[in-house]
Amino acid sequence: MKLQFYNSVTSEKEEFHPISNKEVLVYGCGPTVYHSPHIGNFRTFIFYDLLNRVLVQNGYTVKNVINITDIDDKIIDRVNNEDIGFNDLTQKYERIFLEQSDFLSILPSTVNPRASEYVSEMIHFIKSLMDKGVAYNINGNIFFDTKEYSKYGKFVNIDDDSLSREDNELGKKHSNDFALWKAWKESDGEITWTSDWGNGRPAWHTECAVLGTQLLGESIDIHCGGIDLKFPHHENESAQVEALLENQFANYWLHAEHLIFDSEKMSKSLGNTLSVSDLLKKYSPETLRLFLLSSHYRSKVSFSDKKLDDSSKMIDKINRFVNNFDLATIDVQDIKYSSSHLAFLDALNDDLNTPEALGIFFDFINKMNKNINNESMTEALKAESKIFINLFNSIFSIINPSLSKKGSIPKNIQDLASLREEMRNKSDWNEADKLRRKIENLGWLIEDTKDGQKLIQKK
Ligand SMILES: [Zn+2]
Repeated sequence: MKLQFYNSVTSEKEEFHPISNKEVLVYGCGPTVYHSPHIGNFRTFIFYDLLNRVLVQNGYTVKNVINITDIDDKIIDRVNNEDIGFNDLTQKYERIFLEQSDFLSILPSTVNPRASEYVSEMIHFIKSLMDKGVAYNINGNIFFDTKEYSKYGKFVNIDDDSLSREDNELGKKHSNDFALWKAWKESDGEITWTSDWGNGRPAWHTECAVLGTQLLGESIDIHCGGIDLKFPHHENESAQVEALLENQFANYWLHAEHLIFDSEKMSKSLGNTLSVSDLLKKYSPETLRLFLLSSHYRSKVSFSDKKLDDSSKMIDKINRFVNNFDLATIDVQDIKYSSSHLAFLDALNDDLNTPEALGIFFDFINKMNKNINNESMTEALKAESKIFINLFNSIFSIINPSLSKKGSIPKNIQDLASLREEMRNKSDWNEADKLRRKIENLGWLIEDTKDGQKLIQKK
């Protein structure tokens, strides 16, 4: 099956045709860096990673940008209300985002631009919109004039009164108009930039519009984000670019659904702490990743620890299967895909249907396990299995061959634990603590018992 995506603009599945066969250009709205990301944020980021990996699997080179939103009201509030510097706050949470992305096996983006490093380009962009007559100034606040742009309303019926719009405290002319630039106010403190129309800061929709066009160009292939960004953020982002450049900003708009939190279904052990760092204390990164990939990105999923336990069991089953093979001996020169491999790829090419792909992989495991139990595995079936394991892991990325062997503690974990013991004997608690976190991030819990350290593999 040819690669196809559900495009939010047309509400239909469409075959994917890139602008250039050389490189696919993808923009994903990134984190606002003022708090530790929670598991819902990472549903979107894992979806970006899935998209990236499926594009690569289809033979494309991908240039992808995930921005760092480091100019935002919530950031400014924290900086001014707490005793913390702007850069200290934003770079701390940017680092946490990147570290957690790495733990969850998200491939690095081509670039993660910070909004604060492109403010002069944003000022220039806003000025061009004013020169074109689609933006206006009210007391140093600059707004996009939606009445001057006839194509406003790409994603929604803009006459729908139930739409949530940005409030009008700054005095915009029409209800759908939105801020490109917010004038400095006392509560902003020292966080401000200078423009031709006074001090202030760029607004979020303009940040993404400028970062996308600056780093990827005037037209891109795919723009993605969480479903809550469709309106008004993506509507407003594309309106600015398309009004200014008079072209289509992105050809495909992909949106990931919400993760729903139903507190009654959640165990007391998890409580309401759904930050990724808390979840990683209890579950392995592979368990979280599989949980997030086991439902289709366009379906709502409710969070429950039963589902995480199911994912953990699925990983055990996969690892038990993988342990039958020596993956180091795959001959990558001569890979031929069988019908089950092709069915797996077809499912992914059909708008990234991960539940179906996962089902095909498990059917294959069940079939092969029967052969293993009957001792009827042929060399051809062994090769087919190894190819499928590799193919599966190139997308799901949850098999860590060094951790999959039953019962044994990998050497790197043992080495880190001995080093931690050494640091504890020297009373270097800081270093010992860092090592414990490192071990945890690699999927192992460490317990200090009276007989010394005990290592337990996470679920
Ligand atoms: Zn954005």
